[in-house]
Amino acid sequence: MVDYLVIGAGPAGLQMGRFLHRAGRDYVILEAEPGPASFFRMFPRHRVLSTDDNSLFDGVPFSRYSKRSFPDADDLVRYLEDFARPLNVRYNTPVTDLDRYQAGHVIIATGKKPHVPSIPGIEHAETYASASTDPTAYAGKRVLIIGRGHSAFETADNISTTARLTHTVGRTVQRIVKQGNEFVATIDGTGELRYDRVVVCAGFRRDTSLDVPHAHVISGDSIKAIRHAARSLHRTLEAQHHGVPWPHRRLRNRPDALAATIATRASEIPDGLADVVVPQGGHALLYDEMPTTERNGFVVTSTQVRHYRRNELIAVERRLHRKPLERFFSQQLAVPCIS
Ligand SMILES: Cc1cc2nc3c(=O)[nH]c(=O)nc-3n(C[C@H](O)[C@H](O)[C@H](O)COP(=O)(O)OP(=O)(O)OC[C@H]3O[C@@H](n4cnc5c(N)ncnc54)[C@H](O)[C@@H]3O)c2cc1C
Repeated sequence: MVDYLVIGAGPAGLQMGRFLHRAGRDYVILEAEPGPASFFRMFPRHRVLSTDDNSLFDGVPFSRYSKRSFPDADDLVRYLEDFARPLNVRYNTPVTDLDRYQAGHVIIATGKKPHVPSIPGIEHAETYASASTDPTAYAGKRVLIIGRGHSAFETADNISTTARLTHTVGRTVQRIVKQGNEFVATIDGTGELRYDRVVVCAGFRRDTSLDVPHAHVISGDSIKAIRHAARSLHRTLEAQHHGVPWPHRRLRNRPDALAATIATRASEIPDGLADVVVPQGGHALLYDEMPTTERNGFVVTSTQVRHYRRNELIAVERRLHRKPLERFFSQQLAVPCIS
């Protein structure tokens, strides 16, 4: 029996664990593999990260581990290993059935798995996870890469100097047939083409096998998105179950002051979260990065400001620059514009 059960010791589970640890909560993180960060031990296959913004909250900055703009993935593994060290993680513990555990709150942080599209004959293809990363293995070969995202272009880039030809295609492959050592791919609008190797790099999808209605899920496409989502969930749980108020700061309740703050904040608010501004007489309280389901005061996302009164939507502003925002707040607060 544990108060907080976190499943997965990737960036999401570790970030949540760190918040729970600092707050002194009863928690455990269960991880299927022998160590943390199993995703980044394997991916990206060519070991170059796509961003240097890889720090988690409450730890040392990732820049202590790498100064590169496109760091080596092994530096991130070292960072996450150190981040995990003080936390209560039980390794080699794959969770297959949530009914076996008794927990006050369940947090699913199991990440995404490689996606294999259901194309007839796809079983003949290699995958992003299994295909060789040695460019000489593709020397003189005709290679079809199925996928048009990060992993597809990473793979294409790696083999382009040795392969005889490299085609990357999106959702247009209809069928793959193996004929001897060759693969015949039927491609919409092009017809049948012959290849020596076919590699599926069709992105990653969230594994929903553990999802139950009462569980919380932390997921995202980057460590940046994940650390903010984890912080928002932790604050929600602290407020709901431990009476810890959501942190806030005070602003002057004037159109020019609100417009100046919101114009800056709008570009910083991560997807899926919202700042909430609640006017209270001469000042306004700003609660940052709440769930977007809030229906109170001004709810600010990266694309719009919504004004709610008693849970009812009464106005929306999508021009998130100072002047239009100042006019918007002026109308909504029914006070004259200063400028
Ligand atoms: C090719 C590629 C490159 C990327 N590069 C970057 C980058 O440079 N920077 C960046 O910010 N993001 C990058 N991303 C996005 C990256 O995937 C996410 O930022 C991050 O891995 C998601 O963290 P997570 O904790 O949600 O999931 P994961 O990192 O996948 O962690 C999930 C953990 O849960 C464990 N687990 C799964 N199922 C179970 C179970 N049933 N029981 C117990 N444990 C389980 C897994 O073993 C794993 O350790 C990249 C993605 C791809 C596909």
